[in-house]
Amino acid sequence: MRGAPSRTRLDAAKDCCLWRDGRPVRTRSRRKVRHPELSLLPYSLDDLLHKVRNRHFRDLDRPIHCWFSFEESLAFIQHSLAGGPAHIHFHSLLNHPGTPSEVLEFILTHEMLHLQIPGREIDGRWVDHPPEFWTRESELVPRKRSSWAWIYANFGECLKREPKLERLLVIRSRALPVLARPRIPLDDVLKVFGMRPEAEEFFL
Ligand SMILES: [Zn+2]
Repeated sequence: MRGAPSRTRLDAAKDCCLWRDGRPVRTRSRRKVRHPELSLLPYSLDDLLHKVRNRHFRDLDRPIHCWFSFEESLAFIQHSLAGGPAHIHFHSLLNHPGTPSEVLEFILTHEMLHLQIPGREIDGRWVDHPPEFWTRESELVPRKRSSWAWIYANFGECLKREPKLERLLVIRSRALPVLARPRIPLDDVLKVFGMRPEAEEFFL
């Protein structure tokens, strides 16, 4: 008698209701999100969300909420395959009056794209950002490299790339002194550094 067919990781992923970025996570291992902060931005994050959504994600019919909090990643989105609201979390480093709206628009686009293009298995390995994700992101945000240049010029010393996990971690001890530091304006960053670094090397 034949045994039951073995379950693939994708089957397991479909059963797992909670996703973080492009990756299913066990509900039990879900980290508690820290206490949210009041926005220090000189513009409305909700208006920005509305703008990005209307421009690129009109088909998304679920509520999306944005939060600032001191997390271990620069940004991420949590959502459930069962539907309901999705939550985009921005690190406190981005909660600053000097954060350009262009940078947050780029991050919002990246995180919402996770709802449209989930991760998948490639050659037996789970990939949060499959090639079609990067292609679409570049189509939607052709100037994304300028946002990465701003992020690295302003708090690159706090960031640690984890290529295998496809995440960009924030080093807590280095981030604390940077929180209230004035930010270099985007135009100045581009004048000095151009649009480096190559955005494709970095994950959110
Ligand atoms: Zn991502």
